Amino acid sequence: MCPMDIREVSDQKTDKDVLTEDCMLCMTCAESCPGDKVLSIKFFKWPLFSSSRKYVANRYTKKEGLS
Ligand code: SF4
Repeated sequence: MCPMDIREVSDQKTDKDVLTEDCMLCMTCAESCPGDKVLSIKFFKWPLFSSSRKYVANRYTKKEGLS
């Protein structure tokens, strides 16, 4: 899933900040995560995107032409 093969984003269970120096902020991890607000991308204190079940469901429905 992660183009940089950063494993902290999926392996880390306790630390809230999983940003590593190799992250290029592509947001693929947050876009692919089906958990509501499990992964969030912020620019300083401003939220840019949060993972959501609804977003993933809509994405796969459109991709598979199921709508
Ligand atoms: S934002 Fe992109 S590069 Fe950074 S951890 Fe997520 S998938 Fe990997």
